Amino acid sequence: MNLEDAIQENWSRIDEGQVATYIPALAEVDPYQLGVCLYNVSDDKLDCAGAADVRFAIESVSKVISLLYAIECLGLKAVEDCIGTRQTGFVFDTILNMEITKEDKPANPFVNSGAILISSLIEEQDQQSPFDQILDFTRQICNDPQITLDEDIYQSELRTGDRNRSLAYYLKAREILTNDVTTSLETYFKQCSMMVTCRDLANLGAVLANDGIAPWNNERMISSDAATYVKSVMMTTGLYNESGTYSVKIGVPTKSGVGGGLVAAAPNYGIGIFSPSLDQAGNIVAGLALLEQLSKELDLGIFKY
Ligand code: GLN
Repeated sequence: MNLEDAIQENWSRIDEGQVATYIPALAEVDPYQLGVCLYNVSDDKLDCAGAADVRFAIESVSKVISLLYAIECLGLKAVEDCIGTRQTGFVFDTILNMEITKEDKPANPFVNSGAILISSLIEEQDQQSPFDQILDFTRQICNDPQITLDEDIYQSELRTGDRNRSLAYYLKAREILTNDVTTSLETYFKQCSMMVTCRDLANLGAVLANDGIAPWNNERMISSDAATYVKSVMMTTGLYNESGTYSVKIGVPTKSGVGGGLVAAAPNYGIGIFSPSLDQAGNIVAGLALLEQLSKELDLGIFKY
């Protein structure tokens, strides 16, 4: 399949969305960008087209990485015990659903309440802050030592992050989050502000697609159980409340972020896509159209049995 052609064919879809504006630094990003990288695991081959090397804020895709890292630090059982696996029916930064349902844990690790809780579980180690550990782990699992924090985006997240603050304090008041709130929020805001490329996200997808083993050096990065758990949660909640829609259309575990990045882990393929124009639900319009085309042409859907 020709990736350059796929970029051209989906380009016009960019006009159907808008860049995120609720974090001011993201509003400055040029919406007219579309990039894709496809990592073929068995051939150990990475093909890219379009804006493949443009750096963008990882935003909610970081929730995949912090979840994997928390599982690495605490074990899968401990993480599963404190987080659910279902959609909320509300926006990703909802402050309503836990109060309404009286549940004692966030609905899933990809809504903001769940992601803040997951980040709060990571403790300082050998004088390394939780964020520094997540950054190191991100560089490894994305195979990119150049990943850094964007200070402007971080400051912008801090200035406009009051909903996230309210979520963290709510979790603390309910004694669900038991570590320091300020540190937990700092970790969360910083992890969202890491700058990645879709090449990086294709590498992350390839580790997930390859049962937790990095295909570029055959080293195990995460346990097989962690890879399976995280892919399952990506399938059910990775695209917010539209996960069901895309499960039918694309059929591949996927997680997107409001910075325009998405990671997908299909059988034998890791996929990274970047396009900052988002629809009402916060999903990447042209990027998901491109992923749908890839899934159809390469027969990637996991329900094709
Ligand atoms: N930093 C963003 C927030 O907290 C991440 C949201 C996202 O990408 N869905 O709202």
